[in-house]
Amino acid sequence: MGTRVEKTDQEWRQELDDLQYRVARENATERAFSGQYYQHKDAGRYLCSCCGAALFDSQSKFDSGSGWPSFYAPLNEDAMRVEFDESHGMRRTEVLCAGCDAHLGHVFADGPAPSGQRYCINSVSLKFEPD
Ligand code: FE
Repeated sequence: MGTRVEKTDQEWRQELDDLQYRVARENATERAFSGQYYQHKDAGRYLCSCCGAALFDSQSKFDSGSGWPSFYAPLNEDAMRVEFDESHGMRRTEVLCAGCDAHLGHVFADGPAPSGQRYCINSVSLKFEPD
């Protein structure tokens, strides 16, 4: 289990830029095809942009065509948790950072082999660390 990171709303507002704050702390979604990582193909790991927890490896990244970074598996299952999300008239499974509760995106059951999962994640919730 990773380290818990607890910060006040005011601290998050100071540390994050506007879009990061709205997505990671207020569950907004960045515009499709607008993020810095949706086409990113370098080898490395993707960390939580809020707390630095390691979330995804570039090896599990695939091009979903959705306009958001997409992964078929987490790097470490314990690093994230899911919640049922019925907002915006949809039934989705929200993915959150287990360390700091950042909203990362959603996971869908239409991903590629081997998992069949598609983690659809906002670029601004991630921070890339090259190998
Ligand atoms: Fe985090």
